[in-house]
Amino acid sequence: MRDPNIGEILIQADELQARIADLGVEISRDYEGREILIVCVLKGAVLFVADLMRQLTVPCEVDFMAVSSYGSATRSSGVVRILKDLDGSIEGKNVLIVEDIIDSGLTLQYLMRNLRSRGPASIEVCSLLTKPSRREVEVPIRYTGFELPDRYAVGYGLDLAQRYRNLPYVAALTDAAIAAAS
Ligand code: 5GP
Repeated sequence: MRDPNIGEILIQADELQARIADLGVEISRDYEGREILIVCVLKGAVLFVADLMRQLTVPCEVDFMAVSSYGSATRSSGVVRILKDLDGSIEGKNVLIVEDIIDSGLTLQYLMRNLRSRGPASIEVCSLLTKPSRREVEVPIRYTGFELPDRYAVGYGLDLAQRYRNLPYVAALTDAAIAAAS
């Protein structure tokens, strides 16, 4: 029986994999002759980055960063704290930030400012999901998987109170689950 908090499936597992394969081709073509340093933003982007990396044909390394945004369970405030920094330097490297979802854009805005100050050769963003209707600040997203409506999503890395990251698809929460979490 499906968890009662999980509502409509927004993106099926096979749709995710097909789009990620396309993104892999596009990114590999754009970075031909260069090396990529992937900056994976924990924890939500873990499943995405693991699948995306397997589709890249250019050399790449991966490093991890964890940030927390103060706010309620379903809204970010834009005040960001680094919980785990990168292990290595990004100076002179071609950085590709891999994100799970861009909502207000506040977290990414902070992250880009922070990483730019470290002197990378280039910096681009690849986000599996985006909710354009919720944007509060403009952020340049070079590669996007899917646009979502204004619904709180879980699954394929995305959580509600640390649960549901292991679902192979992206689903909306039921209204009751959102009300209980806010
Ligand atoms: P932003 O700063 O763009 O508003 O929010 C970015 C972060 O908020 C994402 O990396 C993610 O952790 C969280 N977030 C935003 N929207 C959703 C959503 O629909 N579901 C989940 N699980 N997290 C979200």
